[in-house]
Amino acid sequence: MSAPSVRAVVFDLDDTLFDCWTQCVGPAHREAAKAMVEAGARASVGEVLDARLALAGLEKDLDDAVAATFRSVQPVKVAEAGRRAFYDRDPGPITPFPFARDVLRRVHEVARVVLLSMGHPPTQRRKVEVLGLTDAFDDVLVDDVFGRRGKEEVLRGWLASTGLSPAEVLVVGDRPDAEIAAALRLGMQALRVRGGEFAARPTPPGVPESPDVRAVLAYLGLPADAPDAPAPDRDATSAPRPPPAPPAP
Ligand SMILES: [Mg+2]
Repeated sequence: MSAPSVRAVVFDLDDTLFDCWTQCVGPAHREAAKAMVEAGARASVGEVLDARLALAGLEKDLDDAVAATFRSVQPVKVAEAGRRAFYDRDPGPITPFPFARDVLRRVHEVARVVLLSMGHPPTQRRKVEVLGLTDAFDDVLVDDVFGRRGKEEVLRGWLASTGLSPAEVLVVGDRPDAEIAAALRLGMQALRVRGGEFAARPTPPGVPESPDVRAVLAYLGLPADAPDAPAPDRDATSAPRPPPAPPAP
């Protein structure tokens, strides 16, 4: 039995459509370390920065973990200062991956195109604007880091509003523990883009992976523009995989 047609493709933003790791994450960690010291963390900015970088991606709540490390009088206040500084910031002059706009435009010819991102909604919307991607999406979904619904809940709510079945949705993103896990739990198709901050994390069994988002074109059965564009690696694990989905009508 072949996989159902993909009628909507949900894209993650950070490290999927632009190099967030290089362009945003480093500066944001430095600003957050400074804010945590100003809020009372008993350490230098350099020490807090080192702790943030060491614990990033390992701790479920990085700001809580770093605040606890330095035993300040008000750890909740310190954590909140770090969280605010990290997420509520001007992204600066960021640029998308060179192929991102073209991939979104071509996917849009055959499917609904949706953005799903976690962070501070005004910051994430500003990123989309600066990246020149405002017109690329039919729907923009932001999981508010300060509200903490989680991407699965946001996806579930969106899905209910569309009338689509979960199997008709393809989720494309870099984080196995976030959008990819949410897609699998909801019964959606998933394509993992392996790069950026979380590149070392393994791809779940059965999920194809690729170094960049151009692989979605091959996944949907669309021709690649560039001869060097990667196709999804369906042998990243030994688990059985579904056949490629045909393009939506
Ligand atoms: Mg991401």
